[in-house]
Amino acid sequence: MRALLRYTARKLSLHEFQAAALLGKNGLPVVRGEAVQTPGDAIKVAEKLKTDIVLKAQVHAGGRGRGVFKNSKLQSGVHIVKSPKEVGTLASKMIGDILITKQTGAEGKPVSYLYVTEKVSIKRELYIAITTDREKAAVKIIASSRGGMGIEELDPKYVLQHCLKGTQVGESDLEAISQFMEPENAAQKEQFKDIVSKLTKTFVSSDATLIEINPLGVLEDGRVAICDSKVTIDDNALFRQKELAALEDITQKDATEVNAQKDDLNYIKLSGDIGCLVNGAGLAMATMDLINFKGGKPANFLDIGGGATPERVRKAIEIINSDTNVKSILVNIFGGIVRCDVVAQGVISAVEALRIQKPIVMRIKGTNSEEAKEMVKSSKLKIFWDENPDSAVGLCVQQAVSSI
Ligand code: GDP
Ligand code: MN
Repeated sequence: MRALLRYTARKLSLHEFQAAALLGKNGLPVVRGEAVQTPGDAIKVAEKLKTDIVLKAQVHAGGRGRGVFKNSKLQSGVHIVKSPKEVGTLASKMIGDILITKQTGAEGKPVSYLYVTEKVSIKRELYIAITTDREKAAVKIIASSRGGMGIEELDPKYVLQHCLKGTQVGESDLEAISQFMEPENAAQKEQFKDIVSKLTKTFVSSDATLIEINPLGVLEDGRVAICDSKVTIDDNALFRQKELAALEDITQKDATEVNAQKDDLNYIKLSGDIGCLVNGAGLAMATMDLINFKGGKPANFLDIGGGATPERVRKAIEIINSDTNVKSILVNIFGGIVRCDVVAQGVISAVEALRIQKPIVMRIKGTNSEEAKEMVKSSKLKIFWDENPDSAVGLCVQQAVSSI
């Protein structure tokens, strides 16, 4: 259930350059930079900045510094560069390629934007993030004086997890957090406080689910600057965050999920081999538990919701079937508002049109289920009918195993 909840928490991810623009607008000290889509423009920005340059591949994944490009084999999605000429050479090895990092999976993410920023001289790398703590139902600030690329492996004793009482940060919160970040003097401590305070305001006002700064750099000249930022926005708030919603880059998302969203179907990709068509999140979770209990693993979940028409069911089966990991398909529908015969009609027409060979187990119960059963029986397709959820799921797991 936890796992599914995690997958269903939908969010909009911003690119780093978009996150930096949002933070800059809210008065935070971000390093100067511009996003480009061609090596020529990368050179122009570098010439304009007149400093050493950091070239950064824009993908919706962390760990870019330790990533590798799929085609050019260039190591690292983040490069510190001295001359505009070198900017051009490197940019052409990054734009249009695919970056693979620890967080992207083996297929990687396409790079269509580079962020060209000034290189600042970092003396210390800190970490600061704002998110929500679901269990405590609170805004949580996470801070460390040891930020940078190895943050995941850091000893928890160097990481502060500080929950706020409400949605505003008070003086005692600021005191505790800034102190933990090991300020070198009073002025620096004030800078930390100002940053934490503005980040919290931005987190709330932009309906973010995460703002993560890593590194927050303490610079040689005493300034404190945001050198890398990651922002995600709560999907449920996009109706009132229109400017942010417009920034979505769908090339960074799973293609099947994007396809399903177009048809207003709620599709969630998982890592197993049983495709699942269900209606309602509660039934989805119960189905997932039952599949696990029977020794199987779901490949995905497609929640068709309350508005099932034969066309939508057909589209849903098509999407589930397009996942090459799927070995058997479970249709677990409770027909209340949804009519069982409508679901059966959609499934049958999908199987016929797409010549689906994978075994399908249908467990549908409710309005017009007798008619549905008759339709499935007389179709003579490889569709198993079983109204008992326990044995239906057992059969589907068995079918997935025996088809290997
Ligand atoms: P990530 O690996 O995806 O988190 O990418 P980052 O943008 O955080 O870059 C990786 C690392 O590059 C950082 O942890 C810094 O050590 C370094 N870096 C990034 N920007 C600068 C900069 O302006 N100056 C210096 N000296 N180092 C930087
Ligand atoms: Mn980083």
